[in-house]
Amino acid sequence: MPPRIDLSKCNGCEGRSESFCEEACPGNLMAVDPKTGQSFCRSTRDCWDCMSCVKACPRNAIETRIPYQLGYHKATLKPIMGKNSITWKCTDIHGKEMVYKYRNRLDR
Ligand code: SF4
Ligand code: SF4
Repeated sequence: MPPRIDLSKCNGCEGRSESFCEEACPGNLMAVDPKTGQSFCRSTRDCWDCMSCVKACPRNAIETRIPYQLGYHKATLKPIMGKNSITWKCTDIHGKEMVYKYRNRLDR
């Protein structure tokens, strides 16, 4: 499922020539609309749910809807990047949240 942008959080990465989500998408699918100053996915059918844009957004403005075959309509999965960890927040169709936190970097 394509990324879903929370327009109350997205500020278009103000001040950057290229937004973090644009920079992160390997398919060059994310863009900032010059009219609204907010991001959107320009070809949702080409999105393969890699979640790079979701992880890259510093404002936690992007979430991924879980395909209905896996989680039914409205279930979401959101990675929240920490310094040395990633926290996965999964919300099921009833709004119940499950949170999993994993270390993804070693302290040096
Ligand atoms: S990275 Fe986040 S805040 Fe920046 S343009 Fe994309 S969705 Fe908006
Ligand atoms: S989930 Fe991956 S492929 Fe889809 S828009 Fe985001 S970065 Fe691009």
